[in-house]
Amino acid sequence: MKNAIEIYDINKSYRNKPALKNINLHVEPGEIFGLIGPDGAGKTTLIRILTTLLLADSGTATVNGCDIVKDYKHIRTSVGYMPGRFSLYQDLTVEENMNLFAKIFGTTIAENYSLVADIYSQIEPFKNRQAGQLSGGMKQKLALSCALIHKPDILFLDEPTTGVDPVSRKELWDMLKKLKKEGITVFVSTAYMDEATLCDRVALIQDGVLLSVDSVDGIINSFRKKLISVKSDDIYRLIGDLRKLDFVEKAYPFGDCVHTILLDSEADENMILDALKNHNHINLSAKQVIPTIEDCFIDLMENHNG
Ligand code: ADP
Repeated sequence: MKNAIEIYDINKSYRNKPALKNINLHVEPGEIFGLIGPDGAGKTTLIRILTTLLLADSGTATVNGCDIVKDYKHIRTSVGYMPGRFSLYQDLTVEENMNLFAKIFGTTIAENYSLVADIYSQIEPFKNRQAGQLSGGMKQKLALSCALIHKPDILFLDEPTTGVDPVSRKELWDMLKKLKKEGITVFVSTAYMDEATLCDRVALIQDGVLLSVDSVDGIINSFRKKLISVKSDDIYRLIGDLRKLDFVEKAYPFGDCVHTILLDSEADENMILDALKNHNHINLSAKQVIPTIEDCFIDLMENHNG
């Protein structure tokens, strides 16, 4: 089966400042693919290029087998796009927005109601309310309903959970899983690392560069160094002390611990405890832990910078 999205050597700069550098990746049909990276990484730029709203400077890509430049009209009818910022008509009601989007794509709300029923039914009681008057969570549900009303093959969502309350966040991810069951390919961007685990595969992006593309398990399995979680009553002094040890590559705060990546495969938690025993730390402890996707990202980011 052909890939849902194929991207070859895409580059894009804004006023000579690169926003995307040599992006290559593919997305398989029916997967939930996450584009994960901090603010300014290039996520919106890539999504706009794939949804034919922005031209790349160089490179090519296909979406649903169609070229993003030559076949842009076909792509626009076969994908759904939920932009990061609320993009609906604020002065139209909920129902008018839905009808408008349905009409643009030559369909009706009734025709694809089953696809959006789960979310649209929650905002339907407010169907006569202007979109601008809805709460954040409801606006998000309306935007998603509008992006889905023409039953797209591929759904693009640009940071759909940024600034959204935890309940709406969970509802959104449940909805994405349902869409996957319907056979829809989902391409979703986020700055929240914990959402990576909800994706089938992810691309980690920083400063317009893809650092890794794999499943979360694949990325974690390729982290080959020893990671030690160290604790004491004075975390800040502890970080400083750990960074001075010659067998420590990196030490950074992680929750209420300091995650410490070791340079030397022979080194271990006991060497840390031994090296710090005269540093007057209270309640000092150290144990080896399995890295999270966030640890992998920190490691890949710093290696890329360095
Ligand atoms: P993200 O979605 O990951 O936050 P963006 O794609 O919005 O990243 O931005 C990538 C980089 O391009 C950032 O440095 C941003 O400041 C810059 N950028 C984005 N849009 C524009 C624009 N219209 N004009 C100039 N620079 C832009």
